[in-house]
Amino acid sequence: MREVKVDLGEKSYSIYIGYGLEEELQAFVRRAGFSPKALLVTDTNVGPLYGSKVKKLLQAAGLQVEIAQVPAGESSKCLAVAEGLYTKAIELGLDRKSPIFALGGGVVGDLAGFIAATYMRGVPFVQLPTSLLAQVDSSVGGKVAVNHALGKNLIGAFYQPKAVFMDLALMKTLPKREIYTGLGEIIKYGIIYDAEFFAFLEQNQQAVLSLEPEAATHMIARSCEIKAAVVSQDEQEAGLRRILNFGHTMAHAIEKETGYVRYNHGEAVAIGMAGAADISVQLGLLPADAAARVNRLIAALHLPVQAEGCTVEAMYKDIFHDKKTVGGKVNWVLMTGIGTVISRNDVPEEVVKRAMAARI
Ligand code: NAD
Ligand code: ZN
Repeated sequence: MREVKVDLGEKSYSIYIGYGLEEELQAFVRRAGFSPKALLVTDTNVGPLYGSKVKKLLQAAGLQVEIAQVPAGESSKCLAVAEGLYTKAIELGLDRKSPIFALGGGVVGDLAGFIAATYMRGVPFVQLPTSLLAQVDSSVGGKVAVNHALGKNLIGAFYQPKAVFMDLALMKTLPKREIYTGLGEIIKYGIIYDAEFFAFLEQNQQAVLSLEPEAATHMIARSCEIKAAVVSQDEQEAGLRRILNFGHTMAHAIEKETGYVRYNHGEAVAIGMAGAADISVQLGLLPADAAARVNRLIAALHLPVQAEGCTVEAMYKDIFHDKKTVGGKVNWVLMTGIGTVISRNDVPEEVVKRAMAARI
């Protein structure tokens, strides 16, 4: 078992990473001081697989647990589904100390976290992430949200969980493509923060792809450590936290142009990282062989470096409508080496368009 601490003063919490974790979860519940009534939010894929097992564990630790199962998929991250969960919470008589558990991928985590942040102005929240992406990204850092018809994650809050328990054994049922999407964000952590970790991924490709326990535990724990280090220095994204956006500027344009269906998030980020590396080379910030290493690792971990169904003109327009674009200036996170990035908002149009053209 590995424990990673997220250091946020009074809001600090631990992430537990391992196989099983039943005892750790029960011990945490017993000492947490929760009210007995609890809500376990999950989805229609994860609920039937693991819902009753987790419910029993929590009950054995003294909670009365009700399961709320939402349809699997991004469309559940909306106010209508959130309203159904508020109704359930009120009907069950959840009070200010009643915990809400999120058992599932990033959709369930973001949705349940949003309910926890807002129901009675905030109740205790515990993340039990079951997808690789949720384990290395969405369950760490405290961003919770639902989508609006006009844009993703537009209604949300910063709200930290009381603890995060990652049982890596649950990933045995995760579809392969969902593993690759998580690997996209994992590669990102190496690029933005840790050359040694990047080299670990290069040297252990087979173990990484098959989630071999030692490799999986290391890569998930290291990813959480890096995200935790960044978030604890900049919880509300005033500066440093923006480096987590590496690859995402172009990724968001690709997701938009392909209707959020052709590529899942990690795949779009992979293409966007190749694009950001290209811009870095064009500006003379990065040697070409470092960008080649990025592209090689992305491809080796079954992720794309080229996008179909996009045009340069449309993508270029999209980047100005990105949520992270402020005052008409696009903030690019660019590489100065493997493991180091800088932020630039003065990248010339022709450089961006050349990098986009090379990706489509
Ligand atoms: P997801 O929650 O839709 O999960 C992917 C699929 O895998 C779903 O069909 C789910 O039911 C299934 N699944 C999950 N765990 C499983 C398991 N153990 N066995 C079998 N099936 C399983 O998507 P995701 O990729 O986990 O997360 C994407 C969401 O996360 C997006 O909504 C995104 O906006 C959000 N996100 C949030 C943050 C943040 O900081 N809050 C960061 C990144 C992404
Ligand atoms: Zn991402």
